[in-house]
Amino acid sequence: MHEHHDVAIVGYGPVGATLANLLALRGLRVLVIERDADIYRLPRAISLDAECMRVMQTIGVADTLLPMMRVGTGMRFVNADGQLLVDWSRPPEIGNQGWHPSYLYHQPVLEATLRARLADQASVKVLLRHEVCAIDSQPDRVSLKIENLEHGGLLEASADWVIGCDGARSCVRRVMGIELDDLGSHERWLVVDVILKRDRPDLGDRSIQFCDPARPSTYVCGVGRRRRWELMLLPGEDAETLCRPEQIWSLLRRWITPDDAELERPACYTFHSVVAKGWRRGRLLIAGDAAHQTPPFMGQGLCAGIRDASNLAWKLADLIDATASEDLLDTYESERSPHVREFIETTLGLGRIIQETDPQAARRRDALLLDKPLTLTAPRPRLGPGDHDGGEFSGRLAEQPRLDDGSRLDDGLGYRHGLLIEPALAAQMRLPCDGSLAVVPGSDAACSEWLARLGARAILIRPDRYIAGTADNAPGLAALLSRHHRARTR
Ligand SMILES: Cc1cc2nc3c(=O)[nH]c(=O)nc-3n(C[C@H](O)[C@H](O)[C@H](O)COP(=O)(O)OP(=O)(O)OC[C@H]3O[C@@H](n4cnc5c(N)ncnc54)[C@H](O)[C@@H]3O)c2cc1C
Repeated sequence: MHEHHDVAIVGYGPVGATLANLLALRGLRVLVIERDADIYRLPRAISLDAECMRVMQTIGVADTLLPMMRVGTGMRFVNADGQLLVDWSRPPEIGNQGWHPSYLYHQPVLEATLRARLADQASVKVLLRHEVCAIDSQPDRVSLKIENLEHGGLLEASADWVIGCDGARSCVRRVMGIELDDLGSHERWLVVDVILKRDRPDLGDRSIQFCDPARPSTYVCGVGRRRRWELMLLPGEDAETLCRPEQIWSLLRRWITPDDAELERPACYTFHSVVAKGWRRGRLLIAGDAAHQTPPFMGQGLCAGIRDASNLAWKLADLIDATASEDLLDTYESERSPHVREFIETTLGLGRIIQETDPQAARRRDALLLDKPLTLTAPRPRLGPGDHDGGEFSGRLAEQPRLDDGSRLDDGLGYRHGLLIEPALAAQMRLPCDGSLAVVPGSDAACSEWLARLGARAILIRPDRYIAGTADNAPGLAALLSRHHRARTR
């Protein structure tokens, strides 16, 4: 076999699967190569935010996922005596993204749903049990050598672009010669999922960070009867020993016993905090854990990877459709890297509260926070400089109003740019009618309210639902559209 593809994705984890779906929406020919036969089964992501649900909505799987999810109610941080230190409540209502702020789920379910969605996409070819073992990046294409792990045979393929969605130990990142910027936290934790045998409403549906210096721990109420505990390993403790069932039950006994639950899957992880010092080298790029890793205290590792995919896929598509210049791809790192850093740094701040094991320092922390518990809200960083006009609202997430007919704004946009525009202003303009831009009249009640709040008469929304720019008059809009057009003309 020697086939040429628009994009080859190395790694079919959740980020690779999200990227493949988004590229398929734009009709690209995609090859996905995955070493494992099946979806990774050990406990990992359990919460997804509203922005990522919006990406799932774009792909067309949000409604399939919803019955297998639970709306997240938030997280409390308590000290060794159970007193409140930090309150991160999530509002019970649907927010301005058109979704609840947080959802609990089971990562293998998300991955299986994303894979199933690709099954009827003829333009996407998936090779399971295949490993990329050589990458040769040339000026006009990238050649790959791929080993069939069933019988050891070698295949060759090529692509215009290769994206390493190949996880924390990314071989694509290594081939690119990229180092990681170490943000300094590398703690070992034991993560245990259990399935309850009987109801235990007393455990609660709110996640809890037990900031106990004797053993920092986390409790998460998953979907259905799945519950999770995460327990920090102390210096000198051996991960393998701690993963034994008798050790696990001994650590969990303050909450549950074998009469209450079955151990589903324990795993020991080192929670790293790193960002790659480069996300693109020529025709090679990285996304997801290959580009950044964070401890899971805010549930943001995979969310960041899904944002990478959503940021990158339309840029690749615009480039391959021959409408954009390669410079557009450089905005992928310039926009995403500072954005993910802000999440990781906030997580590290929370990690310093949770992971304190010195009893005296923990007492000082408690004295400070018990007086006035911290109220946490999720960060909403702006994208770094890139493909937006740098105005007041640009580079920020667009809202998703519900239209008068009950549909959501994104339903009419697809995975392309959209222009929400006041009808009176639209009447004065000659808007592109080549299908590259979805024009939505801003006359619906929620849309006019949003426009009024921003003091704008038009909002240009990118396919990843970030604001490219706003305009409050015809010349302003002409300038915005001409900038947009210039970035897409070679
Ligand atoms: C305990 C824990 C809790 C977490 N909780 C959350 C949470 O609540 N919310 C959240 O958003 N995130 C969370 N995360 C993070 C999240 O799980 C990861 O960020 C996410 O799984 C990364 O996805 P990925 O697709 O980038 O990488 P991976 O899932 O690691 O996928 C990479 C894939 O590439 C394949 N591969 C590697 N090399 C090759 C090769 N050479 N050829 C072919 N295939 C290759 C691998 O087999 C693998 O399938 C958590 C993580 C942990 C450990």
